[in-house]
Amino acid sequence: MKVDGKNESIQCTIKNCTYHAQEENYCTLDRILVGTHEANPTKKECTDCESFVNRA
Ligand code: SF4
Repeated sequence: MKVDGKNESIQCTIKNCTYHAQEENYCTLDRILVGTHEANPTKKECTDCESFVNRA
């Protein structure tokens, strides 16, 4: 559920992302897509937020 523009169901610490709430560690999107860059993901390092967009 969104509160003040942030989605309290999606915590995130990636402040370099366009969709980060900045003041607090939440995402502002309604939903995100989590994916992988591996053929056979076995560790959390294998997972990616596919909704990430660089803030630059
Ligand atoms: S899109 Fe992904 S990386 Fe960006 S703020 Fe949301 S959860 Fe974090």
